[in-house]
Amino acid sequence: AVAARATELTKVYGQGETQVVALDRVTVDFRQAEFTAIMGPSGSGKSTLMHCVAGLDSFSSGSVRIGDTELGSLKDKQLTKLRRDKIGFIFQAFNLLPTLTAYENITLPMDIAGRKPDKQWVEQVIQMVGLSGRLGHRPSELSGGQQQRVAVARALASKPDIIFGDEPTGNLDSRSGAEVLGFLRNSVRELGQTVVMVTHDPVAAGYADRVVFLADGRIVDELHEPTAEAVL
Ligand code: ADP
Ligand code: ADP
Repeated sequence: AVAARATELTKVYGQGETQVVALDRVTVDFRQAEFTAIMGPSGSGKSTLMHCVAGLDSFSSGSVRIGDTELGSLKDKQLTKLRRDKIGFIFQAFNLLPTLTAYENITLPMDIAGRKPDKQWVEQVIQMVGLSGRLGHRPSELSGGQQQRVAVARALASKPDIIFGDEPTGNLDSRSGAEVLGFLRNSVRELGQTVVMVTHDPVAAGYADRVVFLADGRIVDELHEPTAEAVL
């Protein structure tokens, strides 16, 4: 099944002389239970693609669907609900709430959605990302790497259909990074989740089922069963 699909997706920033075509008629499928890495030079449109497919950014033309839902057909409220119900985000900037503890940050999306957390799963996620002794700390009391783990745990805790990650291991040392990637990998296998991750790191891309390469707002290559060596 297709978890998300972009069809002829075009995104133009600005107008006239300052216009930038960030995405140029991109068509791509993200299948259920597939882990995709998006790679490409800086400015090639990776973040824009991810934001548009995740329903965080508007686009200029083309279409995006999540599951069976066309994003273009949704009102803002419906789009917000869809994001809450189906999508997990791992951003580099963490987006953690400073006044909440790590544990509260992790369960916040479910609290907002009025959903009961699967305690066993949340516990498993917390252990896996190595946050067990830090749950009562606020973000300012955590290192960058620990904050990133909170962001990862938050994205996984609600068992979303799709997880979007923007350099999800960018702030982690290589060992923690490998653990998080292994966990995403497992989560795809065990829960049938779909993961879409923007990364510069060939080692990270090696955890994916496939790599989609962008250049100048277009998909220029695709690699299945990538190895870090092949991506380099
Ligand atoms: P990547 O993630 O591959 O580095 P981006 O998707 O961030 O690329 O950017 C693609 C292009 O769109 C770049 O040329 C960038 O300068 C431009 N761009 C991104 N965001 C904006 C914005 N908010 N306003 C204007 N141009 C933007
Ligand atoms: P610290 O981070 O100070 O070492 P803990 O990690 O033991 O402390 O937990 C701090 C707080 O996180 C607890 O007071 C509780 O509110 C919350 N917490 C931790 N684990 C759980 C859990 N399994 N279920 C619900 N709340 C928890």
